[in-house]
Amino acid sequence: MPSTIDIQHFTTDLEPGLHEFIVTRRHHSGELIEIPVAVIRGSKPGATFAVMSGMHAGEYSGILAAQRLIQHVQPQSLSGTLIVIPVISTRAFMERNMQLSPVDQKELHFQRPGNPDGTFSECLIDTLFRIVSPASYLIDSHAGEMAQALMPWVPIPMIGPKVLQESSYNLALGFDVPYIEPRHDVDSIPALCVALTESDVANIWVECGMQGVPSERDIRTHFDGYIAALKTVGMLEGPPARPAQSVLRGSGKQINSTKSGIWQPAIREGDVVEEGQLLGRLTDYFGNVIQEFHAEAKSLILYYWSSPAINAKRTPHGYNWHNGLVRLIELED
Ligand SMILES: [Zn+2]
Repeated sequence: MPSTIDIQHFTTDLEPGLHEFIVTRRHHSGELIEIPVAVIRGSKPGATFAVMSGMHAGEYSGILAAQRLIQHVQPQSLSGTLIVIPVISTRAFMERNMQLSPVDQKELHFQRPGNPDGTFSECLIDTLFRIVSPASYLIDSHAGEMAQALMPWVPIPMIGPKVLQESSYNLALGFDVPYIEPRHDVDSIPALCVALTESDVANIWVECGMQGVPSERDIRTHFDGYIAALKTVGMLEGPPARPAQSVLRGSGKQINSTKSGIWQPAIREGDVVEEGQLLGRLTDYFGNVIQEFHAEAKSLILYYWSSPAINAKRTPHGYNWHNGLVRLIELED
């Protein structure tokens, strides 16, 4: 049975073994934040490593991989402390809510910690940050949402001191994905990752899985990547896996619709499209074409919205989630 503990009493200074908590915090609105946290305290000394998933509640493959990690890692074979959070956004998860918070409609990845008296999502991200920021390393598992098809890849924040950048980069090398993507432009890096970097936490986020179907292959990709990263930093013994990967270089871009309608994509995740190539059509309810969308440059399709429902009027806090069509990366030659 996990013990329920308020965030102000949470600590990882525990006896060797597996400890399970539900960490809670009451938001000023009256809403209760509840985050499941496993702490595996190794028998030998070492670093602190955090693995987390379920920030976006319909991204299931990482959630199941994190759960598998808790069951797999034995304290006697671990050096240091492993913190695993299988589901960050439990409220959204249990409501089968996608991407945005059901309480305040905010996108957690773009919230900064340090403002617990703000909205629910700001309090949630601050609570999460208090749990994971003592770590030296962090992997955050994502996927395409229930309404998205996605090509697996690992973005890497390449900001802050060089030694930290190298540590972050090395965390990505054990994931069996076609591409890793070092990001140097701070504006292209989610606020949470920037805050982690500022606190000297080497970190990556992993995109693998899609459409609400947690396939064994995708769960395995997250899980094997965690194990490789733990070996890379010396917390587990043995040589880390180093699957073949390519480095993705180019500028990220999202195609959004300014009109509502029914989206019919003409591309697949992982496709390389040429300049001018059709990305898809937006129609009205009757099938009449409202607009066609074409690639402006040679690009790799990272993900697209596989849900046909496009709502240009629904952009809470300016977030292009209900009117997003395609996320791509314009390739450098
Ligand atoms: Zn996500």
